Amino acid sequence: MPYSEDRNTWFEGQGLWQHVPHSDWNDWTWQLKHRITSKEQLEKYMQLTPEEAAGCDHADKKLALAITPYFFNLIDRNDPDCPIRKQVVPRESEMTVSPGEMLDSLGEDSHSPVPGLVHRYPDRVLFLVTDRCAAYCRYCTRSRLVSNAQDYNFHPEYEQGLRYIEAHPEIRDVLLSGGDPLLLSDKKLEHLISRLRAIKHVEFIRIGSRIPVFLPQRITPELCEIFKKYGPIWMSIHVNHPRECTAELKAACERLSFAGVPLGNQSVLLKGVNDDADVMKALVHRLLRMRVRPYYLYQMDLITGGSHFKVDVRKGIEIIRALRGNTTGYAVPQYTIDAPGGGGKVPVNPDYVESIDDTEVVFRNFQGGTYRYPLKGALPGAAAKLPVEGAPIVVF
Ligand SMILES: *Cc1c(COP(=O)(O)O)cnc(C)c1O
Ligand code: SF4
Repeated sequence: MPYSEDRNTWFEGQGLWQHVPHSDWNDWTWQLKHRITSKEQLEKYMQLTPEEAAGCDHADKKLALAITPYFFNLIDRNDPDCPIRKQVVPRESEMTVSPGEMLDSLGEDSHSPVPGLVHRYPDRVLFLVTDRCAAYCRYCTRSRLVSNAQDYNFHPEYEQGLRYIEAHPEIRDVLLSGGDPLLLSDKKLEHLISRLRAIKHVEFIRIGSRIPVFLPQRITPELCEIFKKYGPIWMSIHVNHPRECTAELKAACERLSFAGVPLGNQSVLLKGVNDDADVMKALVHRLLRMRVRPYYLYQMDLITGGSHFKVDVRKGIEIIRALRGNTTGYAVPQYTIDAPGGGGKVPVNPDYVESIDDTEVVFRNFQGGTYRYPLKGALPGAAAKLPVEGAPIVVF
């Protein structure tokens, strides 16, 4: 059955936590304190499938279990296949390691000049500033280090990282990530951001965060003031399914936008969550309505225990093909594979070009019709034949 949704409904309210005072509910520290972090707590609220129950028993060895009350409300507790549930409730299959899966599939540790800093691209660095998140995604690329369930003992070294950036004038772009940088206190964040802003060669500062999705209450006016003060600060949020787009997330995005933070979204293509063109279309439409520009759609990295989420790349390409031309251009994310072993992000696109030679390019449009664009006069060799001093002018 094709996915359908009521486009005018944005989930809001306290759901299962009606008894909690509104002021507590809206306090991000209350949400963190009341996270669901064990099988016993989960079972108080929902019936787990045997696969999930076994997954919870193992969670502390792989990636901790944590779900904020706010996000838990988005789960359909009567549906074992609920796309929200799959993202945060552990399953036993997480413990199965399939061929090709790796703990550090992107080779981040080997591209790390100082602890917590990944310098893979010439002009930008990934700065991992914490190993904690508000909730844990079962497909997390950095599950080796986040939540410290695998004894990775990640200790962010801000000073070392900052000094490395200061000493490398080629770094013009710093991406704060983790873990989730917005779990840091306002004071720590302001310290980090102000230090980065003071480095002359750092032109572009951005934050990768799923906090607006797991804990929109964290986007306080005080936090927004910091972004305003040191802006422009860009932010990539992480929404995978249209049901995550609630009234509260929308309001948090509005606060960020009004503080001058341009917003993008990074989704991970996940089996049974968003590997469907209708779901993806509903998601990107909701994102635009929240002032968020879909940025990347990632093929899932080859993390250990992730095979139950894996989607065929051809399916991803088909989803992008279904979007392009059929909806707003702003709504179409770039489908990307982060090359295993550390090759960096590589775009993967539907192929519209049928043939190309010196005379013409033949391509198909979004409806499958064939079109031609003549190339005569723009031959690859033409540049060399442009008039140069003393040379004869070649006329085609
Ligand atoms: C994704 C990533 C970046 C940022 O890449 P953009 O394409 O600029 O968004 C930077 N460094 C590392 C190591 C990354 O994985
Ligand atoms: S929020 Fe990001 S870093 Fe944290 S568990 Fe999810 S994917 Fe991993």
